[in-house]
Formats: sequence, C-alpha cells, structure tokens
Amino acid sequence: MASQNPNDTGTDRPKNVSEAYPIIDHDFDVVVVGAGGSGLRATMGAAEAGFKTANISKVFPTRSHTVAAQGGIAASLGNNTPDHWTWHMYDTVKGSDWLGDQDAIEYLAREAPQAVYELEHAGVPFSRNKDGTIYQRPFGGHMQNMGEGPPVQRTCAAADRTGHAMLHALYQQSLKYDADFFIEYFAIDLIMTGEGANRRCVGVIAMCLDDGTIHRFRAHAVVLATGGYGRCYYTATSAHTCTGDGGGMVLRAGLPLQDMEFVQFHPTGIYGAGVLITEGARGEGGYLTNSEGERFMERYAPSAKDLASRDVVSRSMALEMREGRGVGKDGDHIYLHLDHIDPKVLAERLPGITESGKIFAGVDLTREPLPVTPTVHYNMGGIPTNYHGEVVTLGPDGNPDHVVPGLYAAGEAGCVSVHGANRLGSNSLIDLVVFGRAIGHRLAETMKPGASHDALPADSADLALTRLDHFRNAKGSLPTARIREDMQKTMQKHAAVFRDTETLAAGKKHLAEVNASMQDIHVSDRSLIWNSDLVETLELDNLMAQASVTMTSADNRKESRGAHAHEDFPDRNDAEWMKHTVTWFDGWGGGAKGSGKGDMKIDYRPVHEYTLTDDIEYIKPKKRVY
Ligand SMILES: Cc1cc2nc3c(=O)[nH]c(=O)nc-3n(C[C@H](O)[C@H](O)[C@H](O)COP(=O)(O)OP(=O)(O)OC[C@H]3O[C@@H](n4cnc5c(N)ncnc54)[C@H](O)[C@@H]3O)c2cc1C
Repeated sequence: MASQNPNDTGTDRPKNVSEAYPIIDHDFDVVVVGAGGSGLRATMGAAEAGFKTANISKVFPTRSHTVAAQGGIAASLGNNTPDHWTWHMYDTVKGSDWLGDQDAIEYLAREAPQAVYELEHAGVPFSRNKDGTIYQRPFGGHMQNMGEGPPVQRTCAAADRTGHAMLHALYQQSLKYDADFFIEYFAIDLIMTGEGANRRCVGVIAMCLDDGTIHRFRAHAVVLATGGYGRCYYTATSAHTCTGDGGGMVLRAGLPLQDMEFVQFHPTGIYGAGVLITEGARGEGGYLTNSEGERFMERYAPSAKDLASRDVVSRSMALEMREGRGVGKDGDHIYLHLDHIDPKVLAERLPGITESGKIFAGVDLTREPLPVTPTVHYNMGGIPTNYHGEVVTLGPDGNPDHVVPGLYAAGEAGCVSVHGANRLGSNSLIDLVVFGRAIGHRLAETMKPGASHDALPADSADLALTRLDHFRNAKGSLPTARIREDMQKTMQKHAAVFRDTETLAAGKKHLAEVNASMQDIHVSDRSLIWNSDLVETLELDNLMAQASVTMTSADNRKESRGAHAHEDFPDRNDAEWMKHTVTWFDGWGGGAKGSGKGDMKIDYRPVHEYTLTDDIEYIKPKKRVY
C-alpha cells in the first residue's frame, strides 16, 4: 500500500501522488510568487485595490535579491540636472539596441517619476540634496537632450543601499493593506486549465519548507515575480536564490521564454569574488585602467567614456585583457579607481562598496585601485508580457500578443520588454515598481474582489507532485551540486561576453549532455523537513531549462546586438533580426515530463515599433555610439 506519510523514506513509492502528499487548500483573488521589489509592489497594489492577496516567497521578503541593489533607481525628476521623460525613453531605447518594445518603454519612462514619489511617500529614505529634493547621480548610458549629452543625473539613490530601503518600505506597506504572506514556501508549479486560446492559469502549488506540507493556492490571477536566473553561471553577482523558478514553471506550462540570449555582464564585479561594485562608483567619478595605467574607455567611447552602457564597457574590458593589457600576473582583470575621490564623499555616498572592497578584495578603496572583471549580473530575457504585466505568447490564431488569462509576470523574471538586448543601470529597480504597480492597476480594471472560483481539474497538483516525488526519491549516482557545477562552467565558458559559432555549438552539445545527466541525479535527503538537498534540485531543474534555452537562443541569433556579441556576425542586422526570440523547452532531463532529450522550439514575436501615445514618435534605429 502507498505510504500516507510524506516524511517516509520513499522505499514505498506512491502510485497516486495526490494521495501520498496531503494537500492544504487556499482560495485567494490574487497570488503573487516572489517578494522582491516587483512582487511586493504588485502585492501592495493588489491588496490596496481590495483583492484578497497572498504573497508566497521562498526567502523572507527583505532577503530577496533586490536587497542587494546598490546604485539606485532611474526617473526623470530633474533634481540635479535638467531632465525629461522623453530623454529617459530615448536612452532606454538606445540602450536596448532597438530590441525593446517602445510602447512599454514610453510607459516606463512616463510613469517613473510618479512611481518614485510613491516610494518616497511609502517611506524610502532617499539621500537628499541641500534643498530637500531626492539626490540623483549619473549612471551609464543616461544622457541629456535625446542622447546628445552631457550625462544626466537621473538615478535616485538611498546612499548605496537603495534596494534595501525599497524592500523594507514595500514590505511594510503590503502588511498595512493586509496581504497574507506565506514565507519560506517554495512554489513548485503553476496550475493550468483549458486548451489552445482558452488555456489559463488558475493557481499554484507550493511546499512549506519548514514542515513539508503541500499547499494548493487557487487564484484568479497569479503573478510571477521570482527574479532572474543568474545562478546558471559559475560567477554571478546575483544571490544563490536567483534560480529562475518562475521561468521554469512557465516552460513546464508549455509557454515560451523570450530573448534569453541576452545576459548582462556588469563591468565591475570584484575579481575572484563576483561581488558587485555599483555603477554608481563610476557615476561618482570612478574610472577604469589597464596594465599600462591607461584610461582605455576614452578610446572605445570618446563621449560617455566610463559611463558608456554596460555591454560596451564589458566588451572593452574583455578586449583589453585579450590583447594583453589586463592587470595582475595572469592579466585577467582590470583596475577600478576611486582613490582620487574625497574619502568624505565615498563615506557618504558609497559606504557599502567601501566595505565590500575591504572584505572581498582586501583593498582600501580610498588609497588603492580595486581589481574588477565583467561578471554575470542581469537577465534581459524572461517571461514575455505586455506593459500591463499580462503574460503573452504566440496565440493559436497567430496573434503574437495573445494574453494568457490569469497569468502575470514582473521584474527580472519578466520580459516586458523595456530592456531589449541590454539594460541600462538603475532601469531595473524602476521596472520593478512601474510594472509591479501596473499589475495592480490592471487587476483593478479587469477583476472584482471576491469572485467565486471554478472547480479545479482533478489533476491540478499532479505535475508539481510528480516532479517533487521524482526528485525526492532520485537514486542516481551524481549529486545535485556536481551537475550544477557542470552546467555553470559550461555557461561561463560557452555563453560569455563574446560568443562565436564554434563555442556556441560546443556549448549546446555539452549542455545537452549535462541536461541528460539529470536522469542520473542523486538526492540523499528523503525527508520533507527543510530538505535543502531537494529544494536545490528543484531549483537546478529550473536553472537547467533556462541555461539550455539561453545557449540555444544565443546559437540561433546570427547577429550582434546589445549584450549578445557574436564574433562571426559582428554587426547588428535589423533587416533579419529585429525580432524577439521565443523559445519553448520540453526536455526535462529529470524525466518527470517530456522527452528528456532537451528538445527546444524557436519562433519569433515582432518588436513593437510603435509608441503608446502621440506625444512621442517611434525612435528609429541608428548605430549605437557612446
Ligand atoms: C548585486 C546587485 C545589485 C543591483 N543593483 C541595482 C541597482 O542599483 N539598480 C537597479 O536598477 N538594478 C540593480 N540590480 C538589478 C535588480 O536589483 C534586480 O533585477 C531586481 O532587484 C530583481 O527584483 P525582482 O523583484 O525581480 O526579484 P528578486 O528581488 O530577485 O526576488 C525574487 C523573489 O522571488 C522569490 N522566489 C523565487 N523563486 C521562488 C519560488 N520557487 N517559490 C517562492 N518564492 C520564490 C524569492 O523568495 C524572492 O522573494 C542589481 C542586482 C544585483 C544582483
């Protein structure tokens, strides 16, 4: 007989998983998965609009990766220099290398100031100018006068702890509006019903990490705000929790992810440690030098120099190192200088990174340069949405903007797409709050609080529980950490700052083998009480799918655009490639579903070459020079 005890050792495997894992049911109007900046802003908005709202988070809300955001949040307040939302829009379009959707970018740039004032009123302690207005600093790629320059001061900052301040304020506000928090609950899979155009999301299955109980959340709207998947690389600035769980759920629901080939390398990760030094450091006057002591960015970006956009600076650094001008005995890093800046300014505006320099590089920033190297930092790709945060896909009728009812996404998990092929610094935090807020507005427009729920399909928990049970009892020979390291090293080597046909083809082949090795995975802990072995395996399953999609999409795009620098196709090719890649994955190496072969399908969605209103015209593509 099948064991009824979920904490059993699994020697007696259940035939019917829903019977073996008792389920606790919950009904909500709205369920938000993720309590970073985007998830909390959506939670606050939904709860404020009167919806019975749940927030599920695998970590305590104020420990989400947003807490680590240092430099700040972009909005054209014009406090320190003249600014205008159209200038912010222009810079974002150019930064995206014309892959961003201009209707969404207009929405972002126009709504940004209001979203920042709301944060201020919610209690974010921004740094101040003498006249009491919010202090704004320069950041890469942000300019005055429709890209003409000089640099604009657009990035609102709370010293170098902006994300930390935001999370605390947003969590407090969400509690004020009575949202229910399910903290240290791990969302496993979405509940989907219907077929074709009627396929929709009606809830999510999660596990309480503390006691292993399984929870089924029924909802009219599920918002995925699960953050990025930076951890599919070996060295990344992102937290170990950035495992792209929302993207994994979406792929398993048979929906595609978009523009996954675009991975941002931040120019200044501390060499060896991967810990981030904010671009605010260069905003406050920091600069890079090579082994000859040369400020080489003047050669690559004569006008913006060290404040060119991130893809440009990272590539320039990689070229300097490749041509033998890197610093250190292996010539494999670059120096960042802050030692010329008044220590009082450093202490006031960049206290956190001064500390990081000491701890992670043993360097006193006020006296010596810091060793840095381009480090994986942000995923431009993710779950495709429109500017309301509604998830979209290619519809059965060919509509490229078909909305999947009941499913929303925001933040780094989403791809709205405002960042296109390359995100500008400080444009993520603003994306989180603008689109988290937009979801709240959309829910209020389209739903009524307290509407009754349809009955769930009988198999609503099967996908989630079959996967859980499969991995919990996995008795292969390879520990999770070993397969994860194989995946991370493959990504690091084959989907790096520069890519070419040969490295990508080899990367695809090797990654397919790593994915297949998931069938031989070994999980040692079979309990359900704080089983980090099991949770890391479920996370690896999510990462593996997204690593595969990233490598395959990168191999597929035969041009260079933004963060995707393909050496055999060094130019941007608008005639053939100004389109979003959408990629499906049906290759669960874990064998819980799908072929196990790593099958993928690629298609395209058109870039929105139109604006939202007549207040600004479509910004036509031109060569991107800084
Ligand atoms: C070191 C660092 C510094 C940065 N600095 C800046 C900056 O200065 N300015 C800027 O604009 N951008 C910055 N960025 C980028 C920006 O901070 C992130 O893109 C953004 O914070 C992501 O927020 P998010 O809401 O999408 O998700 P996150 O903050 O990553 O939160 C994800 C949430 O999802 C939850 N979750 C995930 N999976 C599950 C699951 N299976 N079940 C339940 N819950 C789950 C987690 O518990 C967490 O609450 C920085 C990024 C890093 C890494």
